[in-house]
Amino acid sequence: MTVTELVSYEEALATYEPVMGLEVHVELGTKTKMFCGCSTELGAEPNSQTCPTCLGMPGSLPVVNAVGVESAVKIGLALHCEIAEWCRFARKNYFYPDMPKNFQTSQYDEPIAFNGYLDVQLEDGEVFRVEIERAHMEEDTGKSTHVGGATGRIHGASHSLLDYNRAGIPLIEIVTKPITGAGERAPEVAKAYVAELRELIKALGVSEARMEMGQMRCDVNLSLMPKGAEKFGTRSETKNVNSLRSVERAARFEIQRHAAVLSSGGTILQETRHFHEEDGSTTSGRIKEEAEDYRYFPEPDLVPVAPSREWVEELRATLPELPRVRRNRLREEWGVSEHDMQSILNAGAVDLIVATIEAGADAASARKWWMGELARRANEAGTDLAALEITPGQVARVCALVAEGSLNDKLARQVIEGVLAGEGDPDEVVDKRGLKVVSDEGALGTAVDEAIAANAAVADKIRAGKVAAAGALVGAVMKATRGQADAARVRELILEKLGVEG
Ligand SMILES: [Zn+2]
Repeated sequence: MTVTELVSYEEALATYEPVMGLEVHVELGTKTKMFCGCSTELGAEPNSQTCPTCLGMPGSLPVVNAVGVESAVKIGLALHCEIAEWCRFARKNYFYPDMPKNFQTSQYDEPIAFNGYLDVQLEDGEVFRVEIERAHMEEDTGKSTHVGGATGRIHGASHSLLDYNRAGIPLIEIVTKPITGAGERAPEVAKAYVAELRELIKALGVSEARMEMGQMRCDVNLSLMPKGAEKFGTRSETKNVNSLRSVERAARFEIQRHAAVLSSGGTILQETRHFHEEDGSTTSGRIKEEAEDYRYFPEPDLVPVAPSREWVEELRATLPELPRVRRNRLREEWGVSEHDMQSILNAGAVDLIVATIEAGADAASARKWWMGELARRANEAGTDLAALEITPGQVARVCALVAEGSLNDKLARQVIEGVLAGEGDPDEVVDKRGLKVVSDEGALGTAVDEAIAANAAVADKIRAGKVAAAGALVGAVMKATRGQADAARVRELILEKLGVEG
């Protein structure tokens, strides 16, 4: 099966109905690991953040991280799940070089949260409900680096290096129920779901959920069934997809690949697959194990987790406004369209605009600068808006200087340029660069007189009634004041001096 044999997306959807399942792993932002006191800080020397427990030494005993459990309950509640009154950890047994214990401490038939949903909004504003099967607690594995080969994969490598700093970092795995009925929009639903989940996790403050850092990764399960059928087809599982765009592409590719296999009379293997960023394709991984292959059994070294109902209700009361609800509220407050709000969201500008308004700017100005000049500069620099060297407070100050008439838009852009270049706060840049609208009527009057004297022919035309010719004189004055005059006021002055009605 090669890429060229894919059937077209439209053709695939004409015959088949996609069924998806999404499994998202989120690394929690706790200070210490899930079952020991080792630090979770990123970037340390390999194997410097380990202890007998997370290295699986004989005789070591795990202890549950309370903040990890609290985060899991918060995520469960935000996903409208039921929270287990009593649940246990389980050992998931398999040999893997980056699991020193030879089992992963996870949860099996007793997840901490189950039966919920997440409403996601598609690009056209339609809301699609994704049902949640469960959210359970587990731990991350270590990290292998394969050395000596061309590709960095184990194949062709001469040896492998193991770093156990990540082994034992708390993970929450969130599993959807089968997602049906999305049809041709299945890839869009997958992307929107992961995006919404990421916003939710960030809003809860339980993880930064940065996909590019591997703090959140998605497995995309996909199968096709003939339209009108009720029995699901065999699924493939594309592992560790780590960007929103890739989630959408992986689902799309698998729909086309499954359709090609099924239409030619072939059989889909239940297997894991690798996603390739370069061309958006997937390739075969390993034949998927069934749950019974893991010989799950209850973890004997950990006490069960029994969150009291009072504590669960206390946590429920601390939940922030859900991201989708907040977005809709802001959209109404700011008076923008669905489409504009989507652009603001895609640009990562929502929180920046909120902070700029909190610092005193009006909504329209805050939006204008972040989505205009600053978005353009971020784009040029190939960076995120949030990474620009300007704070919402500084943007608010620029807005204030424009509102009071000290700056026009052109000068404000230069002030922003100065702030981004590290020249200081907006007021400092204004002083250092001498950027202030010339509002001194005396100085403006002189500049206007000079322009009239230097362009006598134009002035005569205006006196004769050709008011449109005033543009040339306005241009001359703006040039003489290096753009630091209020163009509308200059025009008024010119007409006044020439004795013409505007
Ligand atoms: Zn440890």
